[in-house]
Amino acid sequence: MSLTRYQNFVDGRYLANASGEYFEVINPASGAVIYEVEVADEAVQTAAIASAQQGFALWSAMSGVERGRILLRAVALLRERNDILAAIEVADTGKPWQEASVVDVVTGADSIEFFAGLAAAIEGNQQQLGADFYYSRREPLGICAGIGAWNYPLQIACWKAAPALACGNSMIFKPSEETPLGALKLAEIFIEAGMPAGVFNVVQGDGRIGAWLSQAPEVAKVSFTGEVGTGKKVMRAAADTLKGVTMELGGKSPLIIFDDADLEEAVSAAMVANFYTQGEVCTNGTRVYVQQGIYPAFMARLLARTRDNIRVGDPMDPATNFGALISRDHQRKVLDYIRIGQEEGATLRCGGEALRPAMAPNGFFVAPTIFSECRDEMRICREEIFGPVMSVLSFEQEEEVVRRANDTALGLAAGVFTRDIRRAHRVVHQLQAGICWINSYGASPAEMPVGGFKQSGIGRENGLATLQHYTQLKSVYVGMQAMQSPF
Ligand code: NAD
Repeated sequence: MSLTRYQNFVDGRYLANASGEYFEVINPASGAVIYEVEVADEAVQTAAIASAQQGFALWSAMSGVERGRILLRAVALLRERNDILAAIEVADTGKPWQEASVVDVVTGADSIEFFAGLAAAIEGNQQQLGADFYYSRREPLGICAGIGAWNYPLQIACWKAAPALACGNSMIFKPSEETPLGALKLAEIFIEAGMPAGVFNVVQGDGRIGAWLSQAPEVAKVSFTGEVGTGKKVMRAAADTLKGVTMELGGKSPLIIFDDADLEEAVSAAMVANFYTQGEVCTNGTRVYVQQGIYPAFMARLLARTRDNIRVGDPMDPATNFGALISRDHQRKVLDYIRIGQEEGATLRCGGEALRPAMAPNGFFVAPTIFSECRDEMRICREEIFGPVMSVLSFEQEEEVVRRANDTALGLAAGVFTRDIRRAHRVVHQLQAGICWINSYGASPAEMPVGGFKQSGIGRENGLATLQHYTQLKSVYVGMQAMQSPF
């Protein structure tokens, strides 16, 4: 049986490439090739730029109310097709249906809904300067490029498209080559919702296509989600034409649990922050700092709940709450880190191996893994693993844990569990992280800006703050009197 081969989506339709080059997409839970995708060759790239230029001209000339109305229609279609889209995400990523059916499409739609509502409210200001005055306009940038990672493919596409399009820009989006289908479905939905052709285009391929987009002189801005190292390459490429960049990069985030925390909730947070989406979440709290007094009780409950409550299996089974890693290579990388942790002297308390569940024996599964007696200098506590590997560390004092939590070049997220409200705020105010949770972990509603400190990122996604990143301010001085001149 021949597989479906998807093309690039340019100017409102699927466009065949000339080179014939394509790549295969694998379902991580079955190990099987599920479809093929054409690479955006030079002809497609040229067409995508021309299309996005035309799309920009049409879209930026529309009023904010009109743009918002079209975006809201897309939101309705996304919600209507939740189950089909969620199934695509499960097949592409290996994550459980339990998650994808209630989070991935919903959070993507929420973001578009949030920015659709703001599209008509983007405004400049004005000020009187004696008889003269000035006013300012918030203008769109032009063509924005979006480059996505594979862990939340559709959500990432929505989070990038939503503010860019609400502000009147057009977009060329490149999904990860591991998970290319969700963005194509979003492009179809935008057209169905009445968006002019060329406003949202999807080009496919690996890093070569991302590199082309990052340097393309016609592109005004790049919004990137991925690894820190790749983000640096994108910034270097963007520097030649001084493009604006938004960088959503990796983390090695601390989750700090004080003696007075609610034990069950703290254990819930540690599990969510390490095992949700098989640990493939950028904001994961992988360094779990537990104060000495609660350490033994915390470990006992954590191990018991991990043993009793995690159900690994076919991700489409509604009972499964822990799926497969994205690829064979990634599975190998995560297992390598587990070996390194053991060699470094951390105590392996559970997991630590590849799994072959009966219903998905060829998938890329790694068991939920917990190390205790970890030390800050261990590689498993310093490097992003992006898999289900939790490192538990103990601490005594508040000041000590803040210092240790901040001792990293990354600064994406952090969590604090305590019943002492003053301590909670005091600690998060000192943590060098762009997203902090108090007595909670992982929630990221569309209203809340998210992004990283230090090498975890630049700029923000979601929330009002993001409008700044997709518009530029133009000041207009208006002389109301005869102009003075010394000449
Ligand atoms: P990656 O950096 O390998 O790839 C990301 C994207 O960049 C892909 O589309 C890839 O094709 C493209 N790319 C590769 N080389 C490129 C180049 N030279 N120029 C331009 N584009 C290039 O990351 P990944 O493995 O897909 O995703 C996992 C990483 O993403 C983790 O580090 C994770 O923390 C991070 N992430 C961050 C956030 C966030 O919001 N901060 C969200 C999700 C994932």
